[in-house]
Amino acid sequence: MSMKRLTIQIKDNDNVAVAVHDLEAGTVIESGITTREPIPQAHKIALRDIPQGGEIIRYGVVLGFAKEDIPAGSWINEHMLHLPESPSVDDMPFGTNLVRPEELPDPPRTTWLGYRNAQGPAGTRNLLGIVTTVQCAAGVLKVAVERIKKELLPKYPHVDGVVAVTHPYGCGVAINAPLAHIPIRAVTNVIRHPNFGGEIMVVGLGCEKLTYDRVLPPEDITPENVLTLQDYPGHDAMMQAILDMAEKKLQRLNERRREELPLSELVIGMQCGGSDAFSGITANPSAGYAADMLVKGGGTVLFSEVTEVRDGVHMLAARCADKETRDRLAEEMKWYDEYLDAGGVDRDANPTPGNKKGGLANIVEKAMGSIAKSGTSQIVEVLSPAQKPTRHGLIFAATPASDIVCGPSQVASGIGLQVFMTGRGTPYGLDIAPVIKVCSRNEMKDHWFDLIDISAGGVATGDATIPEVGTEIFNMILDVASGIKEPYSDQYGFHNDMCIFNPAPIT
Ligand code: CA
Repeated sequence: MSMKRLTIQIKDNDNVAVAVHDLEAGTVIESGITTREPIPQAHKIALRDIPQGGEIIRYGVVLGFAKEDIPAGSWINEHMLHLPESPSVDDMPFGTNLVRPEELPDPPRTTWLGYRNAQGPAGTRNLLGIVTTVQCAAGVLKVAVERIKKELLPKYPHVDGVVAVTHPYGCGVAINAPLAHIPIRAVTNVIRHPNFGGEIMVVGLGCEKLTYDRVLPPEDITPENVLTLQDYPGHDAMMQAILDMAEKKLQRLNERRREELPLSELVIGMQCGGSDAFSGITANPSAGYAADMLVKGGGTVLFSEVTEVRDGVHMLAARCADKETRDRLAEEMKWYDEYLDAGGVDRDANPTPGNKKGGLANIVEKAMGSIAKSGTSQIVEVLSPAQKPTRHGLIFAATPASDIVCGPSQVASGIGLQVFMTGRGTPYGLDIAPVIKVCSRNEMKDHWFDLIDISAGGVATGDATIPEVGTEIFNMILDVASGIKEPYSDQYGFHNDMCIFNPAPIT
């Protein structure tokens, strides 16, 4: 055990450090400064006198400008700084920070056990996925799925589960509005999720706007694949039709087996939520290290959350492999700027009360920590919400940062699992793809010992390194993907709803 660390300063030119623990007034910290007042854990301490209007620097980046004089040793909270302008996305330099693949850390394993698919990446689970075309069918389908699980699933031991994909889209919407392609693409792509093994089962009501031909090609619209509730006379007939269709799908899924596969068959997503000021120095960089290992081994890693990368977009442009990728990045950022503007806000509407209590002063500070989960590798592709990747490697998949919307969006893009970093704690999970939760502080892991899978807190206290925690995360990714381990959220069945992103009008 090392001497108890009090504060962490990231870059030499930073004029703030972050408290590793709650610090009392009068504590002499590593830089020789004495705290002028109590500093809560994860919050910032001024390392120098900062004059009114002066820059407040963390991660080597200007987080904001002091509203008043801040003497050295003071607590800097979110009320004490003005937000800087967000960087322009026009003509961003690209390709200026391209880490060569040989510079990335070697993965300790290069194969995993997955369910191979005829098309696209392999599955991490063998699930029967039943997708609605409209929320009106959700109540029936949820009851039917409970019956399928109880009456049919025990007969098919090689099937891992049954999922009712009941999103809020489908009717009462402007289906031909230009932005409607985003939720329609999400429904279309989730029907083909790698964990559903190519078996298509779609349940509609019969009068909705999201008709089968909007989400399926003509050859797949068959009585074996689609079922319309209004065609059946009453409850019993309706239920029986769903159970009969499900049983035929279960018979085929039950023939599937895991096989040893290269990492190029694996697609995962990264997300963070309930972040604190430690997220950017412990959990996210450790996840980034695991991402680098996966990318080096040929795997595909998606990261997202537009508002949480917006202030570091230049850092991402520098990692874009080519001009086309840089242009796509700028396009997605601009689209989101306009989307927020139309709602009368900007990207600083993102941080939550919990983020602020966790020491994150504003969106700039949150973004610097959020980007760390992407690791250091080149960005080879940029996706619009719910699009599927066409490349292997690190991919920016534009989504809202909202935990419960980012998750379904990445699921529609085809992730086999998600790694979720948290500071404040959330029981979040997804039923289509397992979620591994990594916390930023040991106190979080002590508190939620049976809800959080991995703690990166040792990186803050000096008891673990980023490569050590990163390797632990990498190994858990492969174990969960291979069905060897189950994260806590799956053990308890804590699964959030399929809240797909719909920026289009509802009528
Ligand atoms: Ca999030």
